[in-house]
Amino acid sequence: MENKKSDFSSWYNEIIDLSGLSDKRYPIKGMNVWLPYGLKVMKGIDRIIRDNVDISGFQEVQFPVLITRDQLSIEFEHVKGFENEVYWVTRGGREPLEVEMALRPTSEAAMYGMFQLWVRAHTDLPLKIYQIVSVYRYETKHTRTFIRIREIHFFEAHTAHTDYDSAEKQMVEYRQIWDQISSELCLPFVVDQRPDWDKFPGAMYTLAFDTAMPGGRSLQIGTIHQYGENFSRNYGIEYLKEDGTHSYVSQTTFGLSERLLAAVIGIHGDDTGLIFPPSIAPVQIVIIPIPSEGADTDSYCSRVSQILSAEGFRVHIDNRDNYTPGFKFNEWEMKGVPLRIEIGGREVRDNKITMRLRTGGDRIKCRIDDLPSEASRALASLKEELRRRAFEHFERSIEDGNSLEIMKKGETMFRFYWCGSKECSDRIEGETGKTVLGMQKENENKGKCLICGKDGRVATASTPY
Ligand SMILES: [Zn+2]
Repeated sequence: MENKKSDFSSWYNEIIDLSGLSDKRYPIKGMNVWLPYGLKVMKGIDRIIRDNVDISGFQEVQFPVLITRDQLSIEFEHVKGFENEVYWVTRGGREPLEVEMALRPTSEAAMYGMFQLWVRAHTDLPLKIYQIVSVYRYETKHTRTFIRIREIHFFEAHTAHTDYDSAEKQMVEYRQIWDQISSELCLPFVVDQRPDWDKFPGAMYTLAFDTAMPGGRSLQIGTIHQYGENFSRNYGIEYLKEDGTHSYVSQTTFGLSERLLAAVIGIHGDDTGLIFPPSIAPVQIVIIPIPSEGADTDSYCSRVSQILSAEGFRVHIDNRDNYTPGFKFNEWEMKGVPLRIEIGGREVRDNKITMRLRTGGDRIKCRIDDLPSEASRALASLKEELRRRAFEHFERSIEDGNSLEIMKKGETMFRFYWCGSKECSDRIEGETGKTVLGMQKENENKGKCLICGKDGRVATASTPY
């Protein structure tokens, strides 16, 4: 396999093929086939997202994939932001359609006409819904599996509130939900407020969660948007207040995609292959029998599997007899299974278990009676180790950009002081080739702008995917 550090791009493509996550031989560029193993991992990520938004009072919905041209054209600057990326459906059978329809590039236009019907009084608010569906963008740049594609596996939450302050509270709740999700996936990130010229089309402001991929490029893995009344005024989403007057709702959204999977692959994987956090691993524990004279390893494996399954672990016994244990070790390591149990004659004889974590270290031995608790402990320590490695990598991936020269030469992300002006951003981008991702929302430090010397705050720049 390719070396992850020296050629991340090749490593990434190769590991996706080898581990059976996705097949990109489908004859449409940027539309890949989710293979069973990959889909299981993605469903695991979706499960974490659902659990966290459900508990916060969101309701799941599913809107149609088609949006009429009329629905889209209401959208002022929002539609301009997408018009070069929209797929159009222009015919039904042989007949041209009277009204052209778009495949949703995102669902504001699909949803907000319905919001206008649903929201009547202040008692209908807050309205908090989400869906996990495919959205479509006619991507013209170079496509890359799970990172830049034309059919996107998309989570989108949409809310409506009585006023801007309530919508701001929703932004805080999104941030807390994101903490839970990113923590389950052991992903580090920085929160950048996108510059006005780079925010989501139609938003008041956009906060993005940016992480660092191996090789130094950044990857936007989530965004939350404050819309204020920008959309509700265009779609006429009004409600009756207690005092008898009408008011427009304030709105927010939260978007995630399979880029989360891309980040998990890139950040946690190593030269041996993938490493999945236990929460999303399709197989958390693989049991591999090591055939041994006079020992019934098969029935012992079944017993171990039953004990673990009963405790809720996702377990698989690899009892294929045409492969050696060594071959199986390699294969499951490559597929990122967090914990391996090896069962040979000695284990059967002594009623013991031998385990090994995908992150390395010594073999762990325990009695079969202690198995569930020892396996839990082992998986928890693997998660801790993944987090430690990921955060250490992230620390190394953002350097101080004290001069344009440093930022030009460096292959990492950079932090630097910036006044917020377009002029200074243009100069930084022009001279370094990096993109200004925005001010770091949660960093209070103040300093002089790298370019103009005026008062500034900490900003991030990088080469984004
Ligand atoms: Zn400046």
